[in-house]
Amino acid sequence: MVSPSARQHRSSSGSCSGALALAALLTPFAQAAAQNGSGWPLDEFGAKLLERSAALAPAAAAPGANASKDLRERLAPLHERYRVGAFELWLPKQVLDGRGVWSDARPLREAHKFVDALARFQVGWVARSSETGGAEPTPEALEFARWAASWKPTKRGLTPREAALHAHMSERLNAAPTAPDAFGLVVCIVPSRAQLCAIAGAQIALDPASRTWIDAPWLSQCREFVLPIGVLVVSTVGRARGSTPAELVDEPLEFERALENAVHNASHALTARHHAGAPRWWREGLAIYDTLAVLGSDETICSGAAESSDSAELSATVDWMFWTSRYKSPYRGAGSDRYFSGALKRAWRGDGFELVDLDTNRPALRAAIPQLAENALVPEAVLRAPPSQRKCYAEHLRAYSTAFVRYLDSDGSAVRPSTLQVLSRELARRSKSGLRRSALHALALELTSRSIGASQDAARDHEAAFVAWLTR
Ligand SMILES: [Zn+2]
Repeated sequence: MVSPSARQHRSSSGSCSGALALAALLTPFAQAAAQNGSGWPLDEFGAKLLERSAALAPAAAAPGANASKDLRERLAPLHERYRVGAFELWLPKQVLDGRGVWSDARPLREAHKFVDALARFQVGWVARSSETGGAEPTPEALEFARWAASWKPTKRGLTPREAALHAHMSERLNAAPTAPDAFGLVVCIVPSRAQLCAIAGAQIALDPASRTWIDAPWLSQCREFVLPIGVLVVSTVGRARGSTPAELVDEPLEFERALENAVHNASHALTARHHAGAPRWWREGLAIYDTLAVLGSDETICSGAAESSDSAELSATVDWMFWTSRYKSPYRGAGSDRYFSGALKRAWRGDGFELVDLDTNRPALRAAIPQLAENALVPEAVLRAPPSQRKCYAEHLRAYSTAFVRYLDSDGSAVRPSTLQVLSRELARRSKSGLRRSALHALALELTSRSIGASQDAARDHEAAFVAWLTR
């Protein structure tokens, strides 16, 4: 799905998706620290997990000396697997606790909400990325959504019609037929911090090179992460209070947050595959747009801070992720209504958007436009500002990117594609043809005769038109 060098989405203090990309962004010092080990019982718990799963495997499938190195094959026996289009929802049969003891998993009462949310998310994506037409879902997609809405866990296999619907979704999302027994993109639910730790450990056991980006302090901070093999690990418990193994405690987490993490990262999984190389704000904006569209809220802590990248600004960017604070941000809770458009309009001051100091709530900085131009850099004033002001910038950019993506999706109809669809389809076409870096900005100019962030003329530039619409 992604490669260790891909600088893709990465995470923050409650959200570790894109663990790989985190490794790609760590400074050499932090990488060395990561390799020294976090002290979390990764190896021990990883081995326990693999052993337990093997014990649950049918005798014929039990791994021997030539055991597969595919994490999915090794962990499948430990899970109930449910096909959901291009995805598979995995619910554990057994759970590891912080003392290293196994018990039977309690049935997840809300499992049907994962199925329904993943299905509705895919219906939206299929309409966005299909070759022709507007945003009207195919009849099969609508039937698939109805199937998901009434889903219940069952031991029976799929009917031929259900299998056909899953295949329909899979083919459209992967742009290739998927065998009925293929794993798809696995959404693996973990109900304890120990189990989250154990999956990371199992990955290291099967691929020791992954220790460089897994055994890091972020493990104590995550609620979810994405493994390159196509496994989205989503926890139903909150992040640790401390950063030491002694605090392998399951903190409570609102179920809605776990659901948001699943959909948000499902979107990242698809953009990593189909929008290779698109700018970070684009992928973040899409993930939040998708999550808001499906669930009505997205309180993930991804900031969307610009990938102005290399070395000097790198540590500052990583730090932001840990500073982003949803509780003090004007772009959280009701601030996300109408895809942030109201909150953004309230922050508009005629020459840019006002950023407040989140500690004092006083006006602090101005974020000038454009903000989404090719090679846009984080403003110098923001880089020099204290964390409480930089946090507000990160929150602002998260909202701004989402509102912009939503704006690009507002000019289509049931039969005519929106600008967002036009761009998404071409990005997908080019990703499929192996082009690793798709130049979104050049693509916009080529396909729509408008730039993004290159001009203040609303007639010639999407971002300028967006700001004019937003602040009208
Ligand atoms: Zn994100």
